[in-house]
Amino acid sequence: MIYLDYTANAPVEPEVLNTFCEVERRCLGNANARHSAGRQAHAEMEKAILHAADVLNVEPGGLIFTSGASESNNTAIFGIAHASRHIGRHIITTPLEHASVSACLTSLQERGWEIDVLEVDRQGIIDLEHLKSLLRADTVLVTVCAVDSELGTIQPIDAVKAILTEKPDCRLHVDATQIIGKLPFRLQTADTVSLSGHKIGGINGSGLLWKRNEVGMEPLIHGGTSTTLYRSGSPAVALAASLAKALEIACSNQEQRLNRVHLLNALLRRRLSTMENVTIHSPGNALPHILNLGVKGIRGVDFRDALDAKGICVSVKSACSVENTPSRAVYAVTRNRRQALEAWRVSLSHLTTTEEIEAFISACNEIVGGKVG
Ligand code: PMP
Repeated sequence: MIYLDYTANAPVEPEVLNTFCEVERRCLGNANARHSAGRQAHAEMEKAILHAADVLNVEPGGLIFTSGASESNNTAIFGIAHASRHIGRHIITTPLEHASVSACLTSLQERGWEIDVLEVDRQGIIDLEHLKSLLRADTVLVTVCAVDSELGTIQPIDAVKAILTEKPDCRLHVDATQIIGKLPFRLQTADTVSLSGHKIGGINGSGLLWKRNEVGMEPLIHGGTSTTLYRSGSPAVALAASLAKALEIACSNQEQRLNRVHLLNALLRRRLSTMENVTIHSPGNALPHILNLGVKGIRGVDFRDALDAKGICVSVKSACSVENTPSRAVYAVTRNRRQALEAWRVSLSHLTTTEEIEAFISACNEIVGGKVG
């Protein structure tokens, strides 16, 4: 099998799995319990929080361990919306958000919140003048992904923050799932930041939300007291420890792994440029791990299935989106429904080999030659 879907899920790092197993075996108590086993688990949880805070360079008090970026996004968006509802019910977003952001906004819209979507240019970069013109006294939240999972467009989060400094009641939520561990990112630029374990060599079901101390946010998961006010339940100590380890490994190897993926991306683009009828939708300066493309006359789902039949895994849109509908992200940059239906995505990692890329290109040529779809 040739795996080219690292943006959807990356394999767990062996050291991360070891950390999980070791902590899970050692900590038998509930970290919320007031006896020695509970205190031991609580201390381990505190250790994981400090470890992750150190790697991410944030205050440990703002870290909330979750089940993944979907939960983090839901917690931040509903939490801020509800806590700010007396100030206003206007939210600004982008057409490139993951379903775990856009579906929260649709749900809020059905309950009376107003949602505006920013214009993007041909590269998918948000229009900052449009942002300025949309901001109102009752805007309580702007939510922008640092890098989207379909095109890999890198958004100017610093510039968004600079615009929002004049709006003290408006919060900035950043879905950083696809940037953390791949490119440098300063969490303090935002008010809340989401990330996911399984994109960076962590374990499925682990994620984080970071929240600036002064941000008002109602919890999504209510219940008893826990290590954070913002998510009740018995802390998943071993998952937290494993995520801190995954962050450490991804961030400490970031530069070297990024350089490798840049080379792989350049090779992939060179090879694709020799094929006819291929359109690359990802901008040249996108995150190199993500390359969105389409072949004229072949629907993305058919190309994916044809590659799958040859043992090659790629995705159409993100794994959590609805099948057989045009890609919202590709439509936003092309304004072309056909291209949005033909689009699919290759995603690379430092583990990808040049041989895999050459085999992928041969398979694409065979499929195009055989005209699937
Ligand atoms: N945001 C982005 C940008 C993503 O790519 C994903 C995963 N496809 C998510 C959020 C959701 O992450 P998780 O699977 O951890 O819930």
